[in-house]
Amino acid sequence: MTEELFREDATLAHCTATVLVADEHGLVLDRTVFYPLGGGQAGDAGSLTNTSGAVLAIADTRKHPQRAGDVLHVPAAGADLAGFSPGTVVSARIDAARRHAHRRFHTATHLLCALVPHPVDGCSITAGYARLDFHMNEALDKEALNAGIARLVAGAYPVRHRWISEAELDANPSLVRSMSVQPPRSADGLGRIRVLEIEGVDLQPCGGTHVANTAEVGAVVVTKIEKKSAMTRRVVIGFADPA
Ligand SMILES: [Zn+2]
Repeated sequence: MTEELFREDATLAHCTATVLVADEHGLVLDRTVFYPLGGGQAGDAGSLTNTSGAVLAIADTRKHPQRAGDVLHVPAAGADLAGFSPGTVVSARIDAARRHAHRRFHTATHLLCALVPHPVDGCSITAGYARLDFHMNEALDKEALNAGIARLVAGAYPVRHRWISEAELDANPSLVRSMSVQPPRSADGLGRIRVLEIEGVDLQPCGGTHVANTAEVGAVVVTKIEKKSAMTRRVVIGFADPA
């Protein structure tokens, strides 16, 4: 299984690693800083550089469809995999600006969860926007949500993750806010679950990448609220300063 360095440190942009698999699906490394699409958060893009200096552009990152626990680095269309065969040592580097956008928006979705006390039944986090679908039929007020987000960002609340036991999770079922996303379990066979805590604001199982303090979310605003169905309200957030 790929060692997932991004789980412990979302700020890591680079690591050295060894290619384990290189085939028509993409490349598997023994360790990586690339986050694979999951929990609504988009996969990372970036590049792999071998010791000869050849660069392989990585367009996306996925959980391997056939090898459970492996992270699949998907090359850009038409990329040449020569020089990246199994055993090759590479420098793996993510697009740090794209990741930072993911971290800001992902953390902002937790702030929305704290402001909207209803279950989440859909989530998508990209570098340009994020959206959350809440299972509810009440109307939502855009200005009130924006005031709430601004207050939580200004409050500069610490954001941190920790691992809890299944027993601890089972004893606190209210921790599971999402109806569609199963919380990630640890790879060590101990059945631990990663939880994300924004001190005094939000606590829920989550495997994604976040900023370290709500102040780092910065200027993020609700751009749209849609009634997707009788029981679904979609909230879309974007950067207030997209330039
Ligand atoms: Zn999260």
